Order: sequence, then structure tokens, then C-alpha cells
Amino acid sequence: MLIVMRKDHTEKELQDVIREIQKVGYQTHVSQGVETTLVGAIGRGPTPELMEHFRALPGVAEVIPISKPWKLASTDVQPFPTVLEFPTGKTGGGHVMVAAGPCGVESREQTLEAARYVKAHGAHMLRGGAFKPRTSPYAFQGLGVEGLKILAEARKETGLPVVTEVLSPDQVELVAEYADVFQIGARNAQNFALLQAVGEARKPVLLKRGMSMTLEELLMSAEYILSRGNMQVVLVERGIRTFERATRFTLDVSAVPVLKSWTHLPVWIDPSHPAGKRAWVIPLALAGLAAGADGLIVETHPEPEKALSDAAQQLHEHEFAELMEKVRRLAQALGKTLAHPVLG
Ligand code: PEP
Ligand code: MN
Repeated sequence: MLIVMRKDHTEKELQDVIREIQKVGYQTHVSQGVETTLVGAIGRGPTPELMEHFRALPGVAEVIPISKPWKLASTDVQPFPTVLEFPTGKTGGGHVMVAAGPCGVESREQTLEAARYVKAHGAHMLRGGAFKPRTSPYAFQGLGVEGLKILAEARKETGLPVVTEVLSPDQVELVAEYADVFQIGARNAQNFALLQAVGEARKPVLLKRGMSMTLEELLMSAEYILSRGNMQVVLVERGIRTFERATRFTLDVSAVPVLKSWTHLPVWIDPSHPAGKRAWVIPLALAGLAAGADGLIVETHPEPEKALSDAAQQLHEHEFAELMEKVRRLAQALGKTLAHPVLG
């Protein structure tokens, strides 16, 4: 339920309401607006009697049930957009960011080279998988810890924060040692133990939509992270399975406006995995931004033809440069802020 405080409520009344909510075993989320203070009280099915109890507390103006199954992610609980800040830029609330880099960390040279040029062309974050969730157990599985160390070196040199995938709850601590942002991949988007584990960590999470997940299910996965106390979640649309086989997946552009009307969390687009082919990455990226996305995560490799995973979809450096130029122009046309990663 959502507790709307009276405009003239005192701090003590607010604290008493929070204490009262916690007493019944519910979680609280306070959203302090300019005009109103909202307190989300999140727990299983509040009874009419319980709502009546809260309505009678001093300082409370109204108690409203939250009808949606997602609570902490909903715009009811937090009516203003979440803005995540990194040393290189911001995402959400009109700020757009770009994370870019290879699908997988394959070597020190490959990753450092990619890190240098993505930064030079204006990316705000470096991506790269150290642990790769491959469809085949015989395919390249990533360099593991060695890959994490390479990413940390690239961050040290470029100053770009690093996002990398974590595959299991027991890897969370290790990945947190090296990375700035956790990536939860499409194949793990409903691995609830993993979602809870990153929910307990205090680092941002890029949560990808599973290829067969509804948007409601995606938000419920986000809720697993939020309900453990980690509110730094970015939702990523990366294409879903449809009958169409021309592209690797079908980018669900409509996910962007729908999610943005349901949730305050930033919404990003991954144009690389749905395209499956580099020629189609730029148009999909621009479509996502035009639809209102708060960021992009894009694959690019110094020598894409030689990549050990996702070779066909990774951009060449010159294509990445072209993408960034178009992103800058589109962001300007849309009235969005795209930070300069070096100047901030
Ligand atoms: C990736 O980002 O390389 C990846 C494996 O993505 P997804 O989980 O969306 O397939
Ligand atoms: Mn990939």
C-alpha cells in the first residue's frame, strides 16, 4: 500500500509511520517529492483493517492500495525517475549513457584497445563478459577471473566504469571486487537466487529481459533485487523470441514506453543481440533512443571477424564512431543530456 503523508506532516509523524509499517513486517520506501511525501509499505496483501489502521495515524492524508504486482519498481511508490550517477555520466530522468565494448574479454590487448577507442568516441562505460553463458558447453566460456582482472586494468587506464556479467550467486562477491556494475543476462533473468544475491550487493545492476519474458515478469525480477535493498537497477530490452527469423531476436521497441510508464527505473536498449548482424545495430539503437530509452549497451570489437563470441553483430571501431555521432545528434534533437565522458 501507499501512504500519502499530509502536506503539513512533521518529521516525527513520518518516523512514527515508518516504525508502524516495520512493526507489521513490511518494507518501507520513502519518496520525498517537492509537494508530497509518499511512503511505500511493501508486504503481502494488506487487509482493509490494516489500511484503516494506517489511515488513522497522525500526519497521514491517504492510504492507497498498489494494484500492480510490482511495488518498489512502480511509479506509484516513486513518481519521479531514478537517476543513476557514474563518474562518467548519468542515466535516467533525461540523461542518456552508452556502455560499449566486446561481447567477451578475450585478451588484454583486445580489451584495452576496445576500452581506449570506445572512450575516445564518447562511451561512458566499458562492457565485456569474463564469464560467458554460452548455449553450447563447447563454445568459448570466457577468461573468468583473468578476464575480470583485464577489465579492472582497462578501468584503471581509461576511468570508464566496467559492467560485466555474473552467472551465479557464488560469483557475486568475486565480480563485485573487480566490476562497477553487475550484468544479469537474459538467460539468468529469472534466476531468483542470483537476483537476491545482487540485491544484497551495493552496486548497480543491468538486468536484461529474458528472451521469453513478459514485461510484467521483467519487473517482478527487478522487484527481487529492489526488495533486498538495492535500488540501483537498470532494465535492458535486448530482443525477444518471435516467429521472425531474419534477425536473431525481435527488438521490442514498445517495451521502452510501456516500462517507462510503469516504472521509475532507467530503461536501456541492447541493439546488438536482437540485430545479430552489425549492419542492423545502428538503426535499432536509434529506434530505442527515439522511443525514450535512457541508455544503450552495445558490442564492439577491434577485430569483430575474429571474435570468439557474437562475431557477426559486433561493430567495427568506425561503425561505433558513426553510432556515437548519430546518438549525439539524436539526443540533442530529443532534448536529452549525453555527458561527455571525459569532461563530465
Ligand atoms: C551479452 O551481453 O553478451 C549477452 C550474453 O547478452 P544476453 O544475456 O542479452 O544474451
Ligand atoms: Mn554477446
